[in-house]
Amino acid sequence: MTKLGTSFTSSAKKVLLLGSGELGKEVAIELQRFGCEVIAADSYPNAPAMQVADRAHVFSMLDGKKLKSVVEAEKPDLIVPEVEAIATQTLLELEAEGFKVVPTARATRLTMDREGIRNLAAKELKLRTSPYVFADSRAEFDAALKEIGMPCVIKPVMSSSGKGQSTIKAADDVDKAWQYSQEGGRTGEGRIIVEGFVDFDYEITLLTVRHAGGTSFCQPIGHRQENGDYQESWQPQPMSANALSAAEDMARKITDALGGYGLFGVELFVKDDEVIFSEVSPRPHDTGMVTMISQDLSEFALHARAILGLPIPNIANHGPSASSVITARGKSENIVYENLDAALSAPDTQIRIFGKPYVNGHRRMGVALAKGESVEEARNKANRAAQAVKIKLNQ
Ligand code: AMP
Repeated sequence: MTKLGTSFTSSAKKVLLLGSGELGKEVAIELQRFGCEVIAADSYPNAPAMQVADRAHVFSMLDGKKLKSVVEAEKPDLIVPEVEAIATQTLLELEAEGFKVVPTARATRLTMDREGIRNLAAKELKLRTSPYVFADSRAEFDAALKEIGMPCVIKPVMSSSGKGQSTIKAADDVDKAWQYSQEGGRTGEGRIIVEGFVDFDYEITLLTVRHAGGTSFCQPIGHRQENGDYQESWQPQPMSANALSAAEDMARKITDALGGYGLFGVELFVKDDEVIFSEVSPRPHDTGMVTMISQDLSEFALHARAILGLPIPNIANHGPSASSVITARGKSENIVYENLDAALSAPDTQIRIFGKPYVNGHRRMGVALAKGESVEEARNKANRAAQAVKIKLNQ
């Protein structure tokens, strides 16, 4: 039975969020709705989740020693990773000491890079994936290219949001792709994966929740990516009954293998009725932000319920919905959002501004959400609202 206490007292349910971006911010809000005491951590001050958390710690979460000292000082009831770049070895040690890591330390370890999860999905569980080879050097990369053939996709094993990722279609692309893979990864130079290009009809995120009452699935979310970074998502993605049941089967297998309670974002490619496994996040997914308008319980609310051990008897939907990202390009530490009146003039439209304190390059700063009579209408509305927001980068 779940018991919840009062923040700042000995009964408080204390949750340490490792990662304080836009997804962590929503998780923090949902946990506080249950009266949890939320402690946010990230590598820079005033990160989105820190703005709503009870307190914050600023440190590199890849620094195992520092991570351990924060956990030992805070003694959280739950440690909730919200990003991939964490000293996962330390999480394994902390779990062995009795701390509770969501969904499990092993799941965060296996999903922190592309290798652990590929090996689990393709080798152990025998799920269908694209053909793939890992490479540590230019010579190994050239050999991998020969084996996989073109077109193929090259990605650092540790990267997200398309950083370091490119598609190689012709021999001319090879040098540039290799160069970029060695600059764009989270830890700089290093190991890459070369994947056969999957000529999918569409791709989905199947949000899958493991909770006290079993496993539940959200309606499939379709999305469009540019250079490996999500631009818009919608729900429900129309699918044949066969493809949907194959997708749910795959999502159940991979999430059961990872274990623990929480929401997972299972990324799948679909071609005809065939489903191909791509990736899984053991936490809310960026494409799942659409659920802030499409579902009664958003992916963040579902994550909060699941990790607190609370029931999820149903997931109610509000009909066709979409999300579209609001991106800034340039350099500023004083960002202003204009034209919101126009952006919000259509009915059933919402805007979330994440409150990120700076931009340097290109960064997701907000998201527009919309409902419509059809997925197409919802997408159009969300895209129009996102484009209407004007970002001014003060110097
Ligand atoms: P990832 O970071 O692996 O999720 O990749 C980001 C996006 O790049 C995916 O959502 C796809 O749109 C595209 N992508 C990644 N891998 C492949 C592949 N093997 N074949 C085709 N498209 C891919």
